[in-house]
Amino acid sequence: MPTTSSDGIRHDGGCRSIWCSQASAPKGRGGAGRMGASDKGMSDMNLRPIPLNDSVSSQMQRMPRTRTKPEMQLRRELHRRGMRFRVNYPKLPGRPDIAFTKLRLAVFVDGCFWHMCPLHSTMPRNNAEWWRIKLLRNVERDREKDDQLSVRGWHVLHIWEHEDTHEAADKVSALVSSLR
Ligand SMILES: [Zn+2]
Repeated sequence: MPTTSSDGIRHDGGCRSIWCSQASAPKGRGGAGRMGASDKGMSDMNLRPIPLNDSVSSQMQRMPRTRTKPEMQLRRELHRRGMRFRVNYPKLPGRPDIAFTKLRLAVFVDGCFWHMCPLHSTMPRNNAEWWRIKLLRNVERDREKDDQLSVRGWHVLHIWEHEDTHEAADKVSALVSSLR
């Protein structure tokens, strides 16, 4: 989107020259990491239609938080139990939220909305058809990634964000033990 003309405007800002030099330099770890993080779970969200009412808007605002919190709680609990793992492992399809690389176990904590949980899946009323296609595509992609992981010899475990942290940790723990 930023073109030569908009760059021209940016240069007037003074500090924008720093931005420019960073942008042209090879991407550092920070930049790549940020890109990866924002990419996660939100791919092609740039296609998101403008919400037509407040309820959808507030629903969208809630999503990132409701999604990340259970994931962090699970990580903390696994850590507390002495398990060590990689987080948002970038070398695998879908960047598993939790990856036990030696055991080849990938764990995903799936948001109820984005991954269409059978208990809590909802469909926004506005732009309903767009959302239906988008969410179904999400689920389809989940299964594709599962297949890709499976082909690479990885075990895949999906946890719903609504699941109790301790019960989820028990599931992971049991799988870890069985794979050792
Ligand atoms: Zn759910």
